[in-house]
Amino acid sequence: MTEHKTHGRTPRPGDVDVVVVGAGFSGLYMLHRLRQLGFSTRVLEAADDVGGTWYWNRYPGARCDIVTTDYTYSFDPELEKAWTWSEKYATQPEILRYAQFITERYDLRRDIDFGTRVAAARWDSSEERWHLRTESDERIRCRHYVMATGCLSQPKALDIAGAGRFKGEVYFTSRWPHEGVDFTGKRVAVIGTGSSGVQSIPLIAREAKHLTVFQRTANFAIPAGNGPVRPERRAALDADPAAYRKAAKLSRVGVPTTPTMVMAMYSTPDVHRERFEAMWASGELADLANVFADQVVSAEANEIICEMVREKIRAVVKDPQTAELLCPRDHAIGTKRACLDTDYYATFNLPHVRLVDLRSHPIRTITETGIELADEAIEFDAIVFATGFDALTGAIVAVDITGRDGVTLKQAWADGARTYLGLTTVGFPNFFAITGPGSPSVLSNMMVSIEQHVDWIGDCLAHLRAEGLTTIEPTETAQAGWMTHMNDCSRITLFPKANSWYMGANVPGKPRVFLPYVGGVDVYRKACDEVVARDYLGFRRTGPQGVRCSDGVICRVQPDVAMVLDLMATLGLPSLDTLPAEGARMLMTQLSAARPPGPAVGEIRDGMLPGAAGELAYRLYRPATPGPHPIVVYFHGGGWVLGAHDSDDPMCRDLCKRADALIVSVNYRHAPEARFPAAADDGLAAVRWIAAHGEELGGRAGPLVVAGWSAGGNIAAVTCQRARDAGGPAIAGQLLLTPVTDCDMTRPSYVENAEGYVLTTSLMKWFWDYYAEPAARTDPKASPLRAKDLSKLPPAFVVTCEFDPLRDEGVAYAQALTAAGVPTRQLAARGHTHTSLTMVDVIFSGAEIRAEMASALRGFFAR
Ligand SMILES: Cc1cc2nc3c(=O)[nH]c(=O)nc-3n(C[C@H](O)[C@H](O)[C@H](O)COP(=O)(O)OP(=O)(O)OC[C@H]3O[C@@H](n4cnc5c(N)ncnc54)[C@H](O)[C@@H]3O)c2cc1C
Repeated sequence: MTEHKTHGRTPRPGDVDVVVVGAGFSGLYMLHRLRQLGFSTRVLEAADDVGGTWYWNRYPGARCDIVTTDYTYSFDPELEKAWTWSEKYATQPEILRYAQFITERYDLRRDIDFGTRVAAARWDSSEERWHLRTESDERIRCRHYVMATGCLSQPKALDIAGAGRFKGEVYFTSRWPHEGVDFTGKRVAVIGTGSSGVQSIPLIAREAKHLTVFQRTANFAIPAGNGPVRPERRAALDADPAAYRKAAKLSRVGVPTTPTMVMAMYSTPDVHRERFEAMWASGELADLANVFADQVVSAEANEIICEMVREKIRAVVKDPQTAELLCPRDHAIGTKRACLDTDYYATFNLPHVRLVDLRSHPIRTITETGIELADEAIEFDAIVFATGFDALTGAIVAVDITGRDGVTLKQAWADGARTYLGLTTVGFPNFFAITGPGSPSVLSNMMVSIEQHVDWIGDCLAHLRAEGLTTIEPTETAQAGWMTHMNDCSRITLFPKANSWYMGANVPGKPRVFLPYVGGVDVYRKACDEVVARDYLGFRRTGPQGVRCSDGVICRVQPDVAMVLDLMATLGLPSLDTLPAEGARMLMTQLSAARPPGPAVGEIRDGMLPGAAGELAYRLYRPATPGPHPIVVYFHGGGWVLGAHDSDDPMCRDLCKRADALIVSVNYRHAPEARFPAAADDGLAAVRWIAAHGEELGGRAGPLVVAGWSAGGNIAAVTCQRARDAGGPAIAGQLLLTPVTDCDMTRPSYVENAEGYVLTTSLMKWFWDYYAEPAARTDPKASPLRAKDLSKLPPAFVVTCEFDPLRDEGVAYAQALTAAGVPTRQLAARGHTHTSLTMVDVIFSGAEIRAEMASALRGFFAR
């Protein structure tokens, strides 16, 4: 090893364009790319050779957990032909050989300083240079500083009493001796049952006389089924390697997979079983993440998979008590990185293997001879710590990094890492992290993420050079926007609920912040590319010519809304306003049929009631709780042209359940067959009839509430005004979801959101043209905002959406109501569109807004 350390160690330049810290897969490819681009580069590596993770983690059983044909570089098609992996999940020695092969093939070693740990780095604003200091006090200057120090490279400090006292053999899986360890005939303890523990325990058990495994948290493991790569995967790769690699880059986790649309909550136990068993047989984490479309957002859906895994554990582990201890109970599957099992569970059937549950038997202290629990002392010859890493941030903040204005990175990240795109951070010019916090990193096939980051950084540095720019740093606005987006992505999932190392929960005192980007490799790549396409949106760049900055926020639409918009774009649906009304209705009916139905309620019943000019259909949604329930009269959306009493079914069910109210969704006459004021007249007639017959419908006596979405919101608002003017019926409140309140289509929201968010400006014009003659549109029965008097109306809850042409008229109506003395609350749904809040069980970020709507309904009735 020392020969590598000194190999070619001619004096190195003390001032280079770029210093890269780390010679794992990130650092190696970064060096290659920078060389191709003509930048002078030095790589500083603490270890004595290349490989990073695969240099350090030499414990028995160490393998990758992504199929190795996927866990491989793709930047050079010739490289693909020059290297063949021997099995589905290659071992650590083979992956290390691959890293060494890469190093030789691209002649990388001559620019790497081994045995060189970076201790500190300081930005000098006047020189526009980073000054680095190594542990051996070497000083190096560079314009750009890239941390390729790894997400899982900084072992977690031991927080066990007495650590250090033990006089026997001590091993850390993350720093395993190169010469290997022989446990034959020894009494061995393994502390920790994360991935390294799960991989090493079966092999240690084969040698040890006694093996005691100390488990704090049981983790999920699926069978690795190691051997040849699955034929389908192999065939797809062999048929067209370039297409396969491209598919990986555009996938959710960096492995080509077709995302399932099957939702556990809407499928049968047979389907659950079939999909689960297929995943179990494939033995791939990418398939585990893709059993059900709703498994990361719905605890119930997730629990279906969890329980099936527990069944499998119970079927393997003979002692029921041990089996129960091995069954994970404290987190949803996938919210901690699941493990691959090769004989792990079966190992606990061996007579010399014992499992100790640290929750019920915590370690009191480690002693000179073993481990002392509260009620027992156990003697050992060797202790193996498989205690994990200070993930994502550990290796970065281990270097004393001081940025602009003397602020250290530790200070900047004191409340949790803050980055822009996981690549850069405010206050630290010309500083980049590869797969840092805020990027998909550990939630992905890291090879795909590493290559994407390296390419992005390389292109960025080439851009700066080409434009004569010398510094780059993200703006506060851009970084804050990215953190908001990160949070939007994670909070709709179950991830933040788990005490995982993704949250920093394994390191005492580390802020609890969800560190990786959970929005997907595909979405992330798109965001990074868009930032570049928009002239490095959110980056402040400087050079002799001055400052260049196009400030702004990337990914402002809620992540699940963006996903649905993308999906709709791929469907190539005709725009509704290009169709005749009947054609548009047929298309809407088809789309509605494909929706999840929404939650179950106590009863759904259809009926007829008298409208202003003939009978109107209604659909009644009754909660499952004992009645009588308060009544909400609901008017559907559809621009007065589309829809019916049953067209907002999922949302009506959702409101019924959440508000514990009887929802009566009433149809009304539609344009162009029945133009203005037919819909408005029907709205008033329906409310009158329901107010008079509410108790017959099983509702509670007393004032009802009127609600509506879009054109239905328009009818609801108009009905409230007309009921007030007519002296009844009594209305306790109005819930207006993205309502049409005015015919003026020149407000900014019509311009900003003219296209791309389902309801377009031209579609709104199409609706108005069908509904009302221009002269009639200013009538308050069509444009309730134009009513001369808005006082004495029922209390209102108005929901507006950021990316909706109707946003500003909703805001204007709420403001006008408030000005008229009507108790009004307006909720601006950030990142939502005109239609997104109604998409129950499709757009999960809408659930919290609907919860607010339901709470407003309850509030109206409580008044
Ligand atoms: C046991 C294990 C198994 C894994 N399996 C998979 C898998 O199957 N699939 C997957 O996608 N990912 C896996 N990972 C994640 C893995 O870390 C990445 O896939 C990848 O190897 C990271 O490469 P890297 O170059 O970014 O970081 P690393 O490989 O961690 O390399 C970072 C290098 O930086 C050096 N360094 C750190 N700080 C300094 C400093 N201050 N000065 C100088 N040098 C420094 C370190 O010595 C190290 O060599 C695994 C991780 C572990 C620990």
